[in-house]
Amino acid sequence: MYYTVIKGDEDLGKQDEYTIIAGCGRLGANLANKLSEEGEGVTIIDSDRDAFRKLSPSYSGISLVGDATDLGVLRDADIEKATAVVSVTNYDNTNIMVAQLAKKMFGIGRVIARLYDTERECVYQELGINTISPAVLSIKEIDKLLDNEEGDVL
Ligand code: AMP
Repeated sequence: MYYTVIKGDEDLGKQDEYTIIAGCGRLGANLANKLSEEGEGVTIIDSDRDAFRKLSPSYSGISLVGDATDLGVLRDADIEKATAVVSVTNYDNTNIMVAQLAKKMFGIGRVIARLYDTERECVYQELGINTISPAVLSIKEIDKLLDNEEGDVL
């Protein structure tokens, strides 16, 4: 499969914290911008070249066009040197596959996958994969706001 690096600093993998993000949607791009601002090494992977437009002009990490479930792409992202892998594509199965590869094949300690399907969450947590569910997080926040009887904007 054809893929390419759009821009980046080749020494990223040598930084103390090096995170690989799969999926450059709103969540992935904002996370990449934040980590990059904090001086951490970041590579963000997306199969759609146009997705990288969401990155800020000051983003100093690597942008890699390709399928994040492709081992060649992950190796090109220097996954062996990653301290964390976060998979936030729009497909649960893709996020789980990336997380499993990162955890089992490359032995990455911190692995996080976004899951839309909340019923599958506990299965993956048993496999050592941290999952985040937009629905569950929203429910927690809404519940907190509903407990605020004064109706103040928190
Ligand atoms: P969003 O739904 O806004 O969070 O965006 C999800 C992003 O994941 C989109 O930019 C998709 O192009 C990207 N994406 C979906 N599948 C893959 C994949 N297999 N590899 C890399 N990126 C993907």
